[in-house]
Amino acid sequence: MLTNKTNISLPLATWLASNSYGGKPEPKRLSATSLLQGTRKLVYQELINRGTFEESSLDISELLASKLGSAIHQNIQNVWEDDTTRSNALLALGIKPEVISRIKVNPSKVHPGDIPVYFEVRTNKVFNDWTISGQFDIVYDGQIQDFKSTSTYVYMNNLKKDDYIKQLSIYKWLNPELITEDTGVIHYIFKNWDKNKVHEEGYPQTPFLSVTYELLPLHEVQKLITSKIMDIEACLEYPNMLPDCDNKDLMVHEDVYQYFSSESSVRASKNFDNLAEANKYLASKGKGLVKKKIQEPKGCYWCNCRGVCTQYKRFKELGVVKE
Ligand code: SF4
Repeated sequence: MLTNKTNISLPLATWLASNSYGGKPEPKRLSATSLLQGTRKLVYQELINRGTFEESSLDISELLASKLGSAIHQNIQNVWEDDTTRSNALLALGIKPEVISRIKVNPSKVHPGDIPVYFEVRTNKVFNDWTISGQFDIVYDGQIQDFKSTSTYVYMNNLKKDDYIKQLSIYKWLNPELITEDTGVIHYIFKNWDKNKVHEEGYPQTPFLSVTYELLPLHEVQKLITSKIMDIEACLEYPNMLPDCDNKDLMVHEDVYQYFSSESSVRASKNFDNLAEANKYLASKGKGLVKKKIQEPKGCYWCNCRGVCTQYKRFKELGVVKE
């Protein structure tokens, strides 16, 4: 269910709302991306899918980043799936015609010498009584690859690296016959790239960067999925004892510790990004106190479990969320 609280014009609103209707939710189904989410969210989602709870609406003003990401994916796929457009682009890049003719997109059969490229194949696998599903971006000559439009901050601080490796590895677990390589590639597209910052240490030199990562062995992927299913099933028995969503789920990128000069101070005199530094400062002052700042949990705004989530209710009581 979507809302349009800021009255975005119909042409744009229709684009933002497109492909949002996913049909009737299916219980006991987990996608490769949902497996990376916190157990609290997955348990609520399962209860929504089972009809126990109603899902919260999402406002279309929150959908820009996801729609831009999808548009980039779709455009890349369109180019690769159209023989003429793809060939012309490869020729313009100086690729030899004999190599171009070996590239076969979504082939039903692969012949010796072919370079097979698959796009957006959806796979379902029943495992421990749950359906695990996933739709990869691209498999190029046996190697899983994924396009990620993100910020330079996320890349430079490795905020998503582990999740990306898990996601690619789950795709390999789902499609072992198509994905034969033990490495995967993330093609980063940096939305906020700034050429004036390229001299900074670790800053990407171009707005595009392809990084190869080692995939997890299949037995480890299986262990990861088994453990997530066990966590969900255990929590479904006791939905009042769910673990809290962590910083990653809440999209809080770093902890902030605040020094207050006295118990009655309403404003912090200084902020720190780690507790040790904050405590050192406290000791140097000889008075006051240090508190961990409760930050705005931005991830909640995209979560359709807000209406039933007790952690979100606590955030509301603390006044750290907008609604
Ligand atoms: S509303 Fe926020 S805290 Fe609750 S499940 Fe969703 S992301 Fe987690």
